[in-house]
Amino acid sequence: MTYDVVIANSHIVSPQGLIDKNIIIDEGKIVGFSHEIPSCDKKIDGRGLLSIPGPIDTHVHYGVYSSIEKAAKSESHASAIGGVTTMMRMLRLQKSFKNSLQDQLDTSARNHYVDYTIHASIFSNQQINEMDYCVEKGITSFKIYMNLGGEVGHVYMDMAPNSSTLEEAVVDVTDDIIEMTIQKAASLGCPVLVHAEDYESCACGIKTAKEKKQDGLSAWSESRSPEFEAKAIKTVCKYGREYGCVIYFVHIGSERALQQIEEEKNKGTKIFVETCPHYLTLSYEKQQGYLAKVMPPIRTKKDNEVIWNALSKNLIDTIGTDHVANQLKLKLGGENVWGALAGFPGIGTFIPILLSEGVNKNRISLEQLVRLSSSNAAKIFGMYPKKGILEKGSDADITMIDLKKENKVSSELFGGFSDYIVYEGMNLKGWPVKTIVRGHLVAENFEVVGKLGHGQFVKRPII
Ligand SMILES: [Zn+2]
Repeated sequence: MTYDVVIANSHIVSPQGLIDKNIIIDEGKIVGFSHEIPSCDKKIDGRGLLSIPGPIDTHVHYGVYSSIEKAAKSESHASAIGGVTTMMRMLRLQKSFKNSLQDQLDTSARNHYVDYTIHASIFSNQQINEMDYCVEKGITSFKIYMNLGGEVGHVYMDMAPNSSTLEEAVVDVTDDIIEMTIQKAASLGCPVLVHAEDYESCACGIKTAKEKKQDGLSAWSESRSPEFEAKAIKTVCKYGREYGCVIYFVHIGSERALQQIEEEKNKGTKIFVETCPHYLTLSYEKQQGYLAKVMPPIRTKKDNEVIWNALSKNLIDTIGTDHVANQLKLKLGGENVWGALAGFPGIGTFIPILLSEGVNKNRISLEQLVRLSSSNAAKIFGMYPKKGILEKGSDADITMIDLKKENKVSSELFGGFSDYIVYEGMNLKGWPVKTIVRGHLVAENFEVVGKLGHGQFVKRPII
């Protein structure tokens, strides 16, 4: 018998440590491991490289500032170069899912290099009523924004496919909508992703800071204090406990928020926690200009250390990038920090940052890297063991790492939609050098070699 692909001579990172075996792949799946090299159509040489389960970016915004047929192409390109094999899109639609979801799915199907899934954001009663419909389509996680309402209720929704018009919207995510979403998700058995910032407090904080003519990323951070995160965490956890819903906190980056989460876990709330690479590496004390404006804001160097510590103690489950595919002309449209657009790209640097600042600086182990970047996400979101592990029967999503490779970050490196990156010029040690999605090599040494349309939508069952 001749197999499709064999990855030879790499070190496989498994939950039990490193395994030195060849990986045998057929029809997109791992079919076995061996010491010999069996007959195969393609041999991939992994000498000196580590093979890890394909990273899953749990938190990606694309299709907002360019429509999905273009965004899928550019952002899955960046994803492939950055070693990410599954991107989880945060879909934001303004109206009925029944009217607009299928069009998004059909257009997505032809335009990805890597696999992808969808979390559906909920803004209205109508969308709550259509959560069953999303589940039928393989979308089994929902997102709520606790900070959207009042003076900060302005948001850009995802564009319609083949459109070039920004979808500006005003939304009012009330406590009622939050409570009902959680109740409905609990009855369906789906986790709810929560953006936890108390909007009334944030609106008030921003108003005061503007009146005082404050500026800069420190003012941005103060106006959206970690206390406001803690307040929202408290509120939503009460609903979580009441209805028995699994709460997944996205982008947690402050010591105060983590403390509150620990408290809520002790009260019996079922909670998962995501952080982002920027909460590990950026602080308003170090960062100049407005490029690193994001919600929730980057905090202090001390918070960075607290988050690293929480990773090493397994108090955080996943890392998502909160990647926003935007551009400088949109980003810096205003005159001060208040006028700048929040969010920045990060999918390409996700794995290099964790390798360079985490593994190579002994802050996390390789096994932790695998859990944080892949296994835990696969388990939480119903993709395990298809994704998240290298074992017989799993999809052959494999990213091969060179821990010694050094390279400077630049936005051009990834070929995404964005013309800037907050890590511009930073030298990182440890890079993905081969990205394999279901047995097909899609990127190699900063070049995409895969076929557009190879990436598939991962339909997720309820766990
Ligand atoms: Zn986000």
